[in-house]
Amino acid sequence: MSDLLEFAQSDPGLLIGGEWREAHAGGRFAVLDPADGTELAKAADGSVHDAVDALDAAVAAQAAWAETAPRERGEILRAGYAGVTAHADEFARLISLEMGKTLAEAKGEVGYGAEFLRWFSEEAVRVHGRWMHAPAGGSRLLTMKKPVGPCLLITPWNFPLAMATRKIGPAIAAGCTMVVKPAELTPLTTLALARVLTEAGLPPGVLNVVTTSDSAALSKELMADDRLRKVSFTGSTEVGKILVRQSAGELQRLSMELGGNAPFLVFEDADVAAAVDGAMLAKMRNMGEACTSANRFLVHESVAEEFGARLAERMAALRTGRGQDDGVDVGPLINPDAVESIDQLVTDAVHDGATLLTGGKVPDGPGYFYPPTVLSGVPEDSQINGVEIFGPVAPISTFADEDEAVRRANGTEYGLVAYAYTRDLARTIRLAERLEFGMLGLNTGLVSNPAAPFGGVKSSGFGREGGFEGIEEYLSTTYVGIGVS
Ligand code: NAD
Repeated sequence: MSDLLEFAQSDPGLLIGGEWREAHAGGRFAVLDPADGTELAKAADGSVHDAVDALDAAVAAQAAWAETAPRERGEILRAGYAGVTAHADEFARLISLEMGKTLAEAKGEVGYGAEFLRWFSEEAVRVHGRWMHAPAGGSRLLTMKKPVGPCLLITPWNFPLAMATRKIGPAIAAGCTMVVKPAELTPLTTLALARVLTEAGLPPGVLNVVTTSDSAALSKELMADDRLRKVSFTGSTEVGKILVRQSAGELQRLSMELGGNAPFLVFEDADVAAAVDGAMLAKMRNMGEACTSANRFLVHESVAEEFGARLAERMAALRTGRGQDDGVDVGPLINPDAVESIDQLVTDAVHDGATLLTGGKVPDGPGYFYPPTVLSGVPEDSQINGVEIFGPVAPISTFADEDEAVRRANGTEYGLVAYAYTRDLARTIRLAERLEFGMLGLNTGLVSNPAAPFGGVKSSGFGREGGFEGIEEYLSTTYVGIGVS
């Protein structure tokens, strides 16, 4: 399969019922290289007609798939893990080409993404039920788990492999069939993944992939169909809310992995050098285009100057360029709108009184680049603190005490992840209890791990991916009351 890259770029079409085929209307859309805006490939432009075909295939495959032995599903996932790992370089190149991140980061994503297949290959055989005596006696209570049924899995562009395996892995493990709809900006990686999973032995109809330039029409049509039982979505809060409303008609089960606005707290007792290392990771992973990206740096006033100076020095040393070129640390952003909106946030923050420590100037084209940027003295109410930046910009503000830090950290509609650097054990416990986030990174800038439950609260959504919790999203509970007298 050394031709995996070529396959994904050769317009293989839609995967429906085990067959690769063209969209009904024969349409295609262009996939662009964010480093220079040139066309990388074309992808099939699936219509609602194609989407319904894909759901038909998933529905037809569901009953037999649910009856396969858990070990068999686990072995297929394990073979999928081996397949992705064996083609790590090709996957990395594809991710880097269509999404822009550096090859080193793309390799990191391949490792992370493949691990979801391995983790859920192990979870497939660990789905449990319960057996109880009724408290009052006289009957027994049997609780069992079943696959929820055909799923619609919608992924974003920022981690084209990992966001797909984080959904496909548990769905396969649980015995669900699925229609996958990748982001239109980065559909190629999903096509390559689908081929690897097919070659790993996935039966026809279990995994169907529909690429489209009209995601809204696709989700509307499929979610109005009572055969679809589950929607798992990763993307913006805005679109997540549309899908939650759409689910009301047929009451599909939902998992919503939405936006974030992560605070990064540095206390007066922190190891500042370690906090700067963590900040680089939490801010610059994926050029800041991550839902877990540190969005607001809240630093105790006694260490803010040192932290800002060290962070600015590290950020200024990064080299920006095409993700596939040697020596590049920071690739392009996904499109021109991203550059424009980030530039506006930085300009407004400076206008509000912030000081630019490094970066802040859009380079001349081609490509959609923005330099690593650090701002200090950012007023609390500056817009950059209130929105998801999704780019390589670190705004720093100060706080005077722990209460203020917690109040400001929680002062957002989002609740995905928070980071905190402190060496005070009691404080770490207080923070874990008081911060309103689904995840907390303590003295680390990276929380993502396939063995841990990833997910948020408030406008960051609900449901968990990875960990023991991840497979639960794809299982429903049946209770059987048994009379024994
Ligand atoms: P987006 O919401 O614009 O798109 C996400 C996906 O939804 C894409 O596949 C898109 O084509 C599709 N989509 C758009 N409108 C739709 C509709 N009406 N019906 C069905 N599908 C529709 O988000 P994006 O720009 O691709 O990704 C960035 C966002 O994703 C950020 O807000 C980021 O925080 C979030 N994100 C969250 C997580 C998480 O796990 N919480 C992970 C990665 C990204």
